[in-house]
Amino acid sequence: MSSTRNVIIIGSGPAGLTAAVYAGRANLQPLMIEGVEAGGQLMLTTEVENFPGFRNGILGPDLMGEMRAQAEKFGSEIIQGNVTSVDLCSQPIVVKTSEGEFRARTLIIATGASARMLGLPSERTLMGHGVSTCATCDGYFFRGREIAVVGGGDSAMEEAVFLTRFASKVTLVHRRDTLRASKIMQDKARANPKIVWMLDHEVEEIKDTGKNEVTSMVLRSNKTKEQTEIPVHGVFVAIGHTPNTSLFRGQLELDQNGYIITHDGAKTSIDGVFACGDVQDHIYRQAITAAGSGCMAAIDAEHYLDHVPEHLASV
Ligand code: NAP
Repeated sequence: MSSTRNVIIIGSGPAGLTAAVYAGRANLQPLMIEGVEAGGQLMLTTEVENFPGFRNGILGPDLMGEMRAQAEKFGSEIIQGNVTSVDLCSQPIVVKTSEGEFRARTLIIATGASARMLGLPSERTLMGHGVSTCATCDGYFFRGREIAVVGGGDSAMEEAVFLTRFASKVTLVHRRDTLRASKIMQDKARANPKIVWMLDHEVEEIKDTGKNEVTSMVLRSNKTKEQTEIPVHGVFVAIGHTPNTSLFRGQLELDQNGYIITHDGAKTSIDGVFACGDVQDHIYRQAITAAGSGCMAAIDAEHYLDHVPEHLASV
């Protein structure tokens, strides 16, 4: 077992890497465990145009590469590994990974959330090439184009309405003939003349992986089983997110949807444990807000360590 760290950061998206930059510059020599999906959701994106500082845009993987190099420059140690369990109640905190066991005085959780996907191979291939899970991030690329939104919840309604600012037509595809969304959100979407409805339909295929761009989608009616192909240039999958909190269930306070509850900055229900990014934010879900909350988590950890209980300071 290695010696006790000041800070362990789990997760390596914009939240975790920003926490690493700040904790590194505070001379805390953080250890980051980057997880299997290193770099987080931006690794699945192409152009990022809304991260301040890059007026010509930057590719998602390049942005994450820059953040990673910056974190390492300031003394972060980054290891690949899958965290298998954590004991948040022990002092120091124990983090077990596929690469061994680590102990820390503070823990920053930046494990993110995963957008639920339909599970089609073409959806995966065309992610970032016409398929998106973030209207705020990618809507602008579809000015004057025909697109589709998949889902029947509040997110799908919100994204569909938002996307009508850019798209010439938004087809809303939902697998049932009744929507899960709240009435007020449904009414807003139904009142929008740019939105057309394909209820009781499932997405069978997104084309065209051969061209590496979205050209159409094939839908199947759940009633008649009939197939319909509609031309679209973009498909926004809005069928919900799953916060990556299974490791912390039963130890940390989570909300009803499984997101970590934070208060007074990045503090969680356990002293010395902080959370940042999408794992505690189901509203904004942006790289820049994740980065901002990563900064908060590092500063909160630094303040905590300034007043660390005596028995922990020496371990
Ligand atoms: P959600 O409420 O869980 O809805 C997910 C939708 O996707 C459902 O309509 C579901 O269909 C569909 N879906 C799930 N898996 C699917 C699959 N494999 N194939 C096809 N369709 C699938 O998720 P959400 O819309 O992201 O909302 C999450 C939470 O955030 C909710 O509590 C919501 O109220 C809240 N929210 C609030 C606002 C707001 O108030 N402004 C905005 C966004 C989200 P079924 O209905 O058939 O299950």
